[in-house]
Amino acid sequence: MFRCELCQAVVPAGVRTSRVILVTRSKTYVERGRQPMERGGPRGRGRSSGGKSKFDKGGEGSEIVREAAVCPKCAAQHEQDEEIKQQQLINSSPETGESDSES
Ligand SMILES: [Zn+2]
Repeated sequence: MFRCELCQAVVPAGVRTSRVILVTRSKTYVERGRQPMERGGPRGRGRSSGGKSKFDKGGEGSEIVREAAVCPKCAAQHEQDEEIKQQQLINSSPETGESDSES
């Protein structure tokens, strides 16, 4: 049994919980981990509270900022919302933007 984080409804045991991603941000992962040459100095950037000492090769991807455990209903609703958002993104692009120059 758990409580849906979106509609606060109590979901009975046996119902599969769904995790939806509420907020993401695109991120470029830099290499990190046990690289001897990485210890350049006391730079405060990139503070990670993960404590993992596993080497991370880095790459590009999206980072989950906020995730929620929700009931199936909200999961479906969320999926719909995402689709609508995508549609709106397409629709909101300027129709007269025929020129390819962006600067
Ligand atoms: Zn819900």
